[in-house]
Amino acid sequence: MTGWRDIMRSVADALMPRSCAVCGTVLTHQERHLCIGCAAELPVTYLHREPDNEAAMRFAGRVPVERATSLLYYRKGGSVAQLLQDIKYRNRPTLGRWLAARLSRELQADGFFSGIDIIIPIPLHFEKRARRGYNQSRYIALGVSDITGIPVGDNLISPRPHSTQTAKDSTRRWENVQGVFALSHPEQLKDKHVLLIDDVLTTGATLVTAARVLRQVEGVTVSVLTLALDKLD
Ligand SMILES: [Zn+2]
Repeated sequence: MTGWRDIMRSVADALMPRSCAVCGTVLTHQERHLCIGCAAELPVTYLHREPDNEAAMRFAGRVPVERATSLLYYRKGGSVAQLLQDIKYRNRPTLGRWLAARLSRELQADGFFSGIDIIIPIPLHFEKRARRGYNQSRYIALGVSDITGIPVGDNLISPRPHSTQTAKDSTRRWENVQGVFALSHPEQLKDKHVLLIDDVLTTGATLVTAARVLRQVEGVTVSVLTLALDKLD
Protein backbone atom coordinates (compact mmCIF):
# COMPACT_ATOMS: atom_id res chain seq x y z
CA MET A 1 0.00 0.00 0.00
CA THR A 2 1.46 3.34 -1.01
CA GLY A 3 0.54 6.07 1.39
CA TRP A 4 1.31 9.75 1.53
CA ARG A 5 4.33 9.08 3.77
CA ASP A 6 5.81 6.64 1.22
CA ILE A 7 5.39 9.19 -1.54
CA MET A 8 7.08 11.88 0.55
CA ARG A 9 9.92 9.50 1.36
CA SER A 10 10.40 8.65 -2.33
CA VAL A 11 10.56 12.35 -3.14
CA ALA A 12 13.04 12.92 -0.30
CA ASP A 13 15.15 9.95 -1.48
CA ALA A 14 15.25 11.33 -5.01
CA LEU A 15 16.40 14.71 -3.75
CA MET A 16 18.93 13.39 -1.23
CA PRO A 17 19.56 9.64 -1.59
CA ARG A 18 20.10 7.75 1.68
CA SER A 19 22.82 5.13 1.71
CA CYS A 20 23.45 1.86 3.55
CA ALA A 21 25.53 2.45 6.71
CA VAL A 22 27.70 -0.60 5.90
CA CYS A 23 28.19 -0.85 2.12
CA GLY A 24 27.09 2.60 0.96
CA THR A 25 24.52 1.32 -1.59
CA VAL A 26 21.70 3.78 -2.17
CA LEU A 27 18.68 2.58 -0.17
CA THR A 28 15.24 1.99 -1.61
CA HIS A 29 12.46 3.86 0.12
CA GLN A 30 11.44 0.67 1.99
CA GLU A 31 14.92 0.24 3.47
CA ARG A 32 16.10 2.08 6.58
CA HIS A 33 19.76 2.54 7.59
CA LEU A 34 20.92 -0.79 6.05
CA CYS A 35 20.32 -2.43 2.68
CA ILE A 36 18.54 -5.82 2.78
CA GLY A 37 21.82 -7.66 2.06
CA CYS A 38 23.82 -6.04 4.87
CA ALA A 39 20.90 -6.38 7.32
CA ALA A 40 20.77 -10.13 6.56
CA GLU A 41 24.52 -10.50 7.14
CA LEU A 42 24.66 -8.82 10.57
CA PRO A 43 26.66 -11.07 12.96
CA VAL A 44 23.78 -11.73 15.36
CA THR A 45 24.95 -13.60 18.51
CA TYR A 46 21.77 -15.35 19.83
CA LEU A 47 23.72 -15.45 23.13
CA HIS A 48 20.55 -14.77 25.15
CA ARG A 49 19.55 -18.40 24.57
CA GLU A 50 22.42 -19.71 26.75
CA PRO A 51 22.45 -18.52 30.39
CA ASP A 52 26.23 -18.97 30.84
CA ASN A 53 27.14 -17.30 27.57
CA GLU A 54 30.37 -15.42 26.93
CA ALA A 55 28.79 -12.05 27.78
CA ALA A 56 27.55 -13.38 31.15
CA MET A 57 30.96 -14.94 31.89
CA ARG A 58 32.60 -11.51 31.86
CA PHE A 59 30.70 -10.68 35.06
CA ALA A 60 31.28 -14.01 36.81
CA GLY A 61 32.95 -13.54 40.18
CA ARG A 62 32.84 -9.74 39.84
CA VAL A 63 29.22 -8.74 40.40
CA PRO A 64 26.00 -10.77 40.50
CA VAL A 65 24.14 -10.39 37.19
CA GLU A 66 20.82 -12.11 36.55
CA ARG A 67 21.05 -12.30 32.73
CA ALA A 68 23.52 -10.86 30.24
CA THR A 69 23.65 -10.75 26.48
CA SER A 70 25.07 -8.84 23.55
CA LEU A 71 23.18 -8.51 20.29
CA LEU A 72 26.03 -8.47 17.74
CA TYR A 73 29.61 -9.68 17.50
CA TYR A 74 32.11 -6.87 17.11
CA ARG A 75 35.30 -7.35 15.14
CA LYS A 76 37.86 -4.67 14.39
CA GLY A 77 37.30 -3.44 10.85
CA GLY A 78 34.04 -5.39 10.52
CA SER A 79 30.53 -4.19 9.75
CA VAL A 80 29.59 -3.76 13.43
CA ALA A 81 32.72 -1.65 14.07
CA GLN A 82 31.60 0.57 11.22
CA LEU A 83 28.05 0.84 12.58
CA LEU A 84 29.37 1.75 16.05
CA GLN A 85 31.50 4.50 14.53
CA ASP A 86 28.40 5.94 12.89
CA ILE A 87 26.37 5.65 16.07
CA LYS A 88 29.01 7.17 18.35
CA TYR A 89 30.94 9.66 16.31
CA ARG A 90 29.08 10.44 13.09
CA ASN A 91 25.91 11.77 14.60
CA ARG A 92 23.69 8.80 13.73
CA PRO A 93 22.32 7.79 17.13
CA THR A 94 18.96 6.86 15.57
CA LEU A 95 20.81 4.03 13.78
CA GLY A 96 21.58 2.62 17.25
CA ARG A 97 17.95 2.90 18.30
CA TRP A 98 16.77 1.21 15.10
CA LEU A 99 19.30 -1.64 15.37
CA ALA A 100 18.51 -2.26 19.05
CA ALA A 101 14.77 -2.37 18.31
CA ARG A 102 15.19 -4.64 15.31
CA LEU A 103 17.40 -7.10 17.21
CA SER A 104 15.34 -7.00 20.44
CA ARG A 105 12.27 -8.56 18.82
CA GLU A 106 13.80 -12.04 19.01
CA LEU A 107 14.80 -11.56 22.67
CA GLN A 108 11.31 -10.33 23.49
CA ALA A 109 9.83 -13.48 21.91
CA ASP A 110 12.28 -15.65 23.89
CA GLY A 111 11.38 -14.02 27.23
CA PHE A 112 14.73 -12.33 27.86
CA PHE A 113 13.00 -9.16 29.10
CA SER A 114 10.46 -10.83 31.38
CA GLY A 115 10.48 -9.40 34.90
CA ILE A 116 12.58 -6.36 33.96
CA ASP A 117 11.13 -3.14 35.40
CA ILE A 118 13.37 -0.42 34.06
CA ILE A 119 16.04 0.07 31.39
CA ILE A 120 19.03 2.22 32.41
CA PRO A 121 21.78 3.30 29.99
CA ILE A 122 25.40 3.82 31.04
CA PRO A 123 25.68 7.61 31.16
CA LEU A 124 28.20 9.40 29.00
CA HIS A 125 31.10 11.01 30.83
CA PHE A 126 30.28 14.72 31.15
CA GLU A 127 33.19 15.83 28.91
CA LYS A 128 32.15 13.50 26.10
CA ARG A 129 28.53 14.55 26.48
CA ALA A 130 29.56 18.17 26.02
CA ARG A 131 31.51 17.30 22.86
CA ARG A 132 29.16 14.80 21.26
CA GLY A 133 25.83 16.19 22.40
CA TYR A 134 24.13 12.79 22.77
CA ASN A 135 24.57 9.50 24.62
CA GLN A 136 24.57 6.56 22.18
CA SER A 137 23.70 4.09 24.97
CA ARG A 138 20.53 6.03 25.71
CA TYR A 139 19.44 5.58 22.07
CA ILE A 140 20.11 1.83 22.32
CA ALA A 141 18.01 1.78 25.51
CA LEU A 142 15.21 3.63 23.68
CA GLY A 143 15.31 1.00 20.91
CA VAL A 144 14.85 -1.80 23.46
CA SER A 145 12.05 0.21 25.06
CA ASP A 146 10.34 0.65 21.66
CA ILE A 147 9.89 -3.15 21.47
CA THR A 148 9.33 -4.03 25.13
CA GLY A 149 7.42 -1.00 26.41
CA ILE A 150 9.71 -1.03 29.49
CA PRO A 151 10.51 2.57 30.56
CA VAL A 152 14.00 4.08 30.26
CA GLY A 153 15.31 5.65 33.46
CA ASP A 154 18.02 8.25 33.99
CA ASN A 155 18.87 7.15 37.52
CA LEU A 156 22.52 6.42 36.76
CA ILE A 157 24.46 9.63 36.32
CA SER A 158 28.04 10.65 35.63
CA PRO A 159 28.68 13.49 38.04
CA ARG A 160 30.98 16.35 37.18
CA PRO A 161 34.06 16.16 39.39
CA HIS A 162 35.11 19.18 41.43
CA SER A 163 37.19 21.30 39.09
CA THR A 164 39.23 22.82 41.89
CA GLN A 165 40.48 19.52 43.24
CA THR A 166 43.39 20.19 45.58
CA ALA A 167 43.28 17.04 47.67
CA LYS A 168 46.17 14.61 47.85
CA ASP A 169 46.72 12.25 44.94
CA SER A 170 45.48 9.22 46.87
CA THR A 171 42.12 10.92 47.51
CA ARG A 172 41.79 11.90 43.88
CA ARG A 173 42.46 8.36 42.72
CA TRP A 174 39.79 7.04 45.04
CA GLU A 175 37.30 9.55 43.62
CA ASN A 176 38.21 8.56 40.07
CA VAL A 177 37.26 4.99 40.78
CA GLN A 178 34.31 5.48 43.10
CA GLY A 179 32.94 8.70 41.64
CA VAL A 180 32.46 7.55 38.03
CA PHE A 181 28.75 6.94 38.60
CA ALA A 182 26.19 8.19 41.06
CA LEU A 183 22.48 7.53 41.52
CA SER A 184 19.68 10.00 41.11
CA HIS A 185 16.43 9.13 42.94
CA PRO A 186 17.71 5.73 44.14
CA GLU A 187 14.39 5.19 45.99
CA GLN A 188 12.72 4.66 42.59
CA LEU A 189 14.90 1.57 42.09
CA LYS A 190 14.11 -0.25 45.35
CA ASP A 191 13.31 -3.94 44.63
CA LYS A 192 13.49 -3.35 40.87
CA HIS A 193 15.04 -5.51 38.17
CA VAL A 194 17.22 -3.15 36.13
CA LEU A 195 18.42 -3.81 32.58
CA LEU A 196 21.73 -2.00 32.23
CA ILE A 197 22.59 -0.96 28.65
CA ASP A 198 25.87 -0.08 26.94
CA ASP A 199 27.10 0.02 23.36
CA VAL A 200 30.00 -2.46 23.56
CA LEU A 201 30.97 -5.10 26.12
CA THR A 202 34.75 -5.44 26.21
CA THR A 203 36.35 -6.21 29.58
CA GLY A 204 33.14 -5.28 31.36
CA ALA A 205 34.90 -2.87 33.77
CA THR A 206 32.42 -0.01 33.19
CA LEU A 207 29.36 -2.24 33.45
CA VAL A 208 30.70 -3.99 36.57
CA THR A 209 31.22 -0.60 38.27
CA ALA A 210 27.73 0.57 37.25
CA ALA A 211 26.12 -2.69 38.38
CA ARG A 212 27.81 -2.39 41.79
CA VAL A 213 26.50 1.16 42.18
CA LEU A 214 22.95 0.06 41.27
CA ARG A 215 23.13 -2.88 43.66
CA GLN A 216 23.73 -0.50 46.57
CA VAL A 217 19.97 0.08 46.43
CA GLU A 218 18.02 -2.45 48.49
CA GLY A 219 16.53 -5.33 46.50
CA VAL A 220 17.96 -4.35 43.11
CA THR A 221 18.62 -7.08 40.54
CA VAL A 222 20.77 -6.25 37.51
CA SER A 223 20.73 -7.72 34.01
CA VAL A 224 22.90 -6.46 31.15
CA LEU A 225 22.42 -5.95 27.42
CA THR A 226 24.92 -4.43 25.03
CA LEU A 227 24.58 -3.79 21.32
CA ALA A 228 27.93 -5.45 20.59
CA LEU A 229 30.38 -7.92 22.13
CA ASP A 230 34.10 -7.53 21.52
CA LYS A 231 35.42 -11.08 21.15
CA LEU A 232 38.80 -10.24 22.82
CA ASP A 233 40.66 -12.74 20.64
ZN1 LIG B 1 24.54 -2.55 2.50
